[in-house]
Amino acid sequence: MTRHVWVSILALWLCACGDPESPVAAPQAERAPGARAGEVERRVRGIEPRLIAWRRDFHQHPELSNREFRTAERVAQELERMGLDVRTGVAHTGVVGVLRGTQTQPVVALRADMDALPVTEEVDLPFASRERASYLGREVGVMHACGHDAHTAILLATAEVLSGMREQVPGTVVFLFQPAEERPPPGEEGGARLMIEEGALEGPRPEAIFALHVVSEHPVGTMAWLAGGAMASSDRLEIRVKGRQTHAAYPWRGVDPIAAAARIVLRIESIPGRETDARLPGVVSVGAIHGGVRHNIIPDEVELLGTIRSLDRDARWTLHERVRQVAESVAASSGAVAEVEIDAENGYPVTWNDPELARLVLPTLERVAPRLVEARPRTGAEDFAFYQQQIPGFYFWLGVRPPQVSAEEAAPNHSPRFFVDEAALPLGVRAMTELALGYLTNAPGTAPAR
Ligand SMILES: [Zn+2]
Ligand SMILES: [Zn+2]
Repeated sequence: MTRHVWVSILALWLCACGDPESPVAAPQAERAPGARAGEVERRVRGIEPRLIAWRRDFHQHPELSNREFRTAERVAQELERMGLDVRTGVAHTGVVGVLRGTQTQPVVALRADMDALPVTEEVDLPFASRERASYLGREVGVMHACGHDAHTAILLATAEVLSGMREQVPGTVVFLFQPAEERPPPGEEGGARLMIEEGALEGPRPEAIFALHVVSEHPVGTMAWLAGGAMASSDRLEIRVKGRQTHAAYPWRGVDPIAAAARIVLRIESIPGRETDARLPGVVSVGAIHGGVRHNIIPDEVELLGTIRSLDRDARWTLHERVRQVAESVAASSGAVAEVEIDAENGYPVTWNDPELARLVLPTLERVAPRLVEARPRTGAEDFAFYQQQIPGFYFWLGVRPPQVSAEEAAPNHSPRFFVDEAALPLGVRAMTELALGYLTNAPGTAPAR
């Protein structure tokens, strides 16, 4: 959509509604899960040893984004053994499994990401990763420091549970095992966007999609959810401030891009909340400044690199527009020129939990989770957002912190000390299984259960 269409939509919305409505989900009654819930619980208990074995195997053999060859092969083998229709090589190493229940419609998708990170593991485990790989020309350790090993194992176990009770699955379940959530290496395509381009959401087309992420803020037994903007859009910002080189003792004889760049940083970082609606959170951060070679030369040019984040789908574009205008005008006021590039094309959209879908599934989560909390949004990004641009989606968090460790002590995702308490994993399987069954049973247009 063009920028001015976005701006007009925003203007209409501003004058028509005043306060934006907060996407509060009033839960809707869940059709009785009945004996099926007991069977899910039994089957999840039964699958536990295999779930843990899968997770340890993936943990010990992590693979970087777009290199998930072994993981994908293992996943495909298991899905085939379960009798699913399996497609491999989607978006390089992605695997799509289709489970057909008692009827073809409705169709629901569940997604797990499979990639690991260039991090050297520091956790003392018998199955700790010793893998090394080449990343951007350097040799690095490889670790499942974001817990995608847990996601992959949870989704495999979910497929096993659901395939064992096919006659009670009133629709079709699509399992998406996705590569490169942590972004493909520079110059390569990958992740959710490529999965979609290569038909992951076609044949059959799901009507809704679910995913979870393990986090160490919450202890085992806790799940966290949120309607609306759950994780931020993320767009790379690059600004070239062009001045005119001169002796630093005679700055008036040139144009100083360093001083201009400093003013730009201070101005653009204060845009969110002052020049865009403070109730729609956003962040502008400059992470790198490059310019100059010596103390007494004012350089020709300074480069600023940063990121723009927003938790609102429309405010994302307003932020981009203001950053561009402010950088250009601040530079111009110093006699310099700012060239602003915001790479929305390779950016991630807002992870937007469809409020209607949240309303539909909340009773299921409430029933399944020993403790369910309403989370604060996160300003990190997640490429699950691309699926949610196509179909309504719901993304939630599963606590994996050992109960005896405090939230402050627990290492965050991406840390070499990130630790997953495996006691949390069966709840993930139960949640994914029940969400799929709950959606297929309660989705708009389905007949009420007897
Ligand atoms: Zn991550
Ligand atoms: Zn992750």
